[in-house]
Amino acid sequence: MSNEQDLTIESKLAEQEYFEPPTEFVGQANMADPAVYDRFDEFPEGFEEYAEMLDWDEHWDEVLDDSNPPFYEWFVGGKLNASHNCIDRHLDERKNQTALLWEGEGGEQRNISYQDLYREVNEMAAALRSAGVEEDDIVTIHLPMVPALPITMLACARIGAPHSVVFAGYSAGALAERVNTADSEHVVTIDGYYRRGDFLEHIEKTDEATDEFDGDPDVLAWTRHDEPQTDISDDYTLVSELLADHRGERVEPVSRDAEDPLFLMYTSGTTGVPKGCQHRTGGYLAYATGTANYVEDIKPGDTYWCMADIGWITGHSYIVYGPLSLGTTSVMYEGTPDYPHKGRTWEIAEKYDVDIFHTSPTAVRQFMKWGKEELEGYDFDFRHMTTVGEPIQPEAWLWYYEHIGDESAAIVDTWWQTENGGHLITNLPAIHDMKPGSAGRPAPGIEPAILDDRGDEIEAGTAQAGNLAITRPWPGMLQTVYGNDERFIEEYWERFSDTDSGDSADWVYEAGDAAMQEADGYYRVLGRLDDVMNVAGHRLGTMELESAVAEVEDVAEAAVAARDDTEKGEVPDVYVTVREGVEETEELRGRIVESVEEGIGKFARPSNVLFVDELPKTRSGKIMRRLLEDISNDEELGNTSTLADPSVPETIRDQLQAD
Ligand code: ATP
Ligand code: MG
Repeated sequence: MSNEQDLTIESKLAEQEYFEPPTEFVGQANMADPAVYDRFDEFPEGFEEYAEMLDWDEHWDEVLDDSNPPFYEWFVGGKLNASHNCIDRHLDERKNQTALLWEGEGGEQRNISYQDLYREVNEMAAALRSAGVEEDDIVTIHLPMVPALPITMLACARIGAPHSVVFAGYSAGALAERVNTADSEHVVTIDGYYRRGDFLEHIEKTDEATDEFDGDPDVLAWTRHDEPQTDISDDYTLVSELLADHRGERVEPVSRDAEDPLFLMYTSGTTGVPKGCQHRTGGYLAYATGTANYVEDIKPGDTYWCMADIGWITGHSYIVYGPLSLGTTSVMYEGTPDYPHKGRTWEIAEKYDVDIFHTSPTAVRQFMKWGKEELEGYDFDFRHMTTVGEPIQPEAWLWYYEHIGDESAAIVDTWWQTENGGHLITNLPAIHDMKPGSAGRPAPGIEPAILDDRGDEIEAGTAQAGNLAITRPWPGMLQTVYGNDERFIEEYWERFSDTDSGDSADWVYEAGDAAMQEADGYYRVLGRLDDVMNVAGHRLGTMELESAVAEVEDVAEAAVAARDDTEKGEVPDVYVTVREGVEETEELRGRIVESVEEGIGKFARPSNVLFVDELPKTRSGKIMRRLLEDISNDEELGNTSTLADPSVPETIRDQLQAD
């Protein structure tokens, strides 16, 4: 990026706090009427607006039963099937429209129409049944980004067997842990898939996990090609053989109670041992569909691409359930964005003429690091773009807006968690102005509060940092932590609720994130509570500090860790990776320190600026600051089981020792 352009970005940031959504966008948006907020404030009836977007076998009798908090029940008495909602109900109008547009790493392509999906999901549902899967059995799905994944999920939903998708990148140990804690008797895997040109023998992870399984689960194995590409144990059943026995079969969708679980999903494990979040059928599907409609602005005629992996909640809600329930065309890509070249993302965007693009701040920072040159020559035009997963630094937001959105796309930053089912804090793109670095307003019907450590509400709009909490239930919320109601209460409710009370008004959901609400009503999420440090009495969010560092031209990514200091309590260490081709010099260190002093104040001055090759991240791409903190404080590393690359923390230690 040239100096000149940096100046434009900086001056824009300084001058312009808000960006209006493009008029063209507003004109076509699914929801552009501010009255939607008033409707949803009729609590809980407002949420019926989302439930009405679905097909129900039986209408609900009661919107919300809150008589036993925090075990809320939504759309009580209603019955429905998620696979019917994502497939069958679209057949009349759009059976020949593409439902899933799959691109293999090497450029293979599959256009799966709604009719194809109907046929394949029915056959798979019949196959699962013949393999002994019964209603309410939990099926663990350990599949990469290939069509077999959503097909298996929807087949499970069809027969009322909750799925538990384990991200394909997870190891044998992580798989076994999730199979065991979910008491799952069925595991679905695949011989392999492509990663950076190689055929990765994925099935080995299940082979290896076998010794660690508590029970003796049945294993069903898909194959990436017609023929297996690797040895498959005789103990496993080939899905292709089962399917051959069920060609053309139809399976009636099982009518599920709204409160019957649809799936389990484990959290990313950024802060510790992952929690198995259990999601209900009716409330979850309503919330995922409603937010996909109003926030993602998805229409049936769109080509929509969410770059997340289906192995995370974002992929569940915003690649599979939300988009398919709305009858759109959802893109899936097998590979990584830099293989075989760094323009791969834009090549796909152009090839399929993608309208809506959903990604993460970590991906945006990666694109920035590679430089805008990688975008040159690709012709694509996004109407709408979104991010999720971490706070997005204003610097990264602007880059996204200018270079990827061409200043003509609406953007929303969506805050939510695995536990939440769908977006909780996000602007509706046609209603509110965009504000870089800010998640914006609560989604319709959602009532957040910022609480101090005693649980007292910090006055709204005062921009004072505190604990982000949600004070009313919503349909997308988890039912419990699977098999562990105590942990459910401990993790999310105990801290700010009167747990002896049977009155829902005394129960408050604790998000575990720090945030502030500014005078304009917008929320700024500052990061994990643990990521907020106390420097000589000043509360300092990592987001704020990292944004100041990221403004320095040569910085690619920055993460701040708190180091214990006898004098000040804590001081910030800044870990920095530089952009391609940039040298790690004292002069650059100086610019980083200066940027923090100018942007925040002298008190926030980094105690060390440490150049590293890579930051420790979870497999979902989030920076694990607590590991950097362990390094800074010369302590033993905490739980590293969810790290994408387990060698990164030790490499950093070695690098620092060598310096
Ligand atoms: P674990 O709970 O196991 O530690 P995790 O919290 O990283 O893992 P997820 O549920 O995948 O697992 O992530 C939710 C968290 O991601 C939020 O609590 C928040 O810290 C962060 N997050 C998500 N979206 C945003 C956003 N738009 N802005 C700021 N932070 C976000
Ligand atoms: Mg979490």
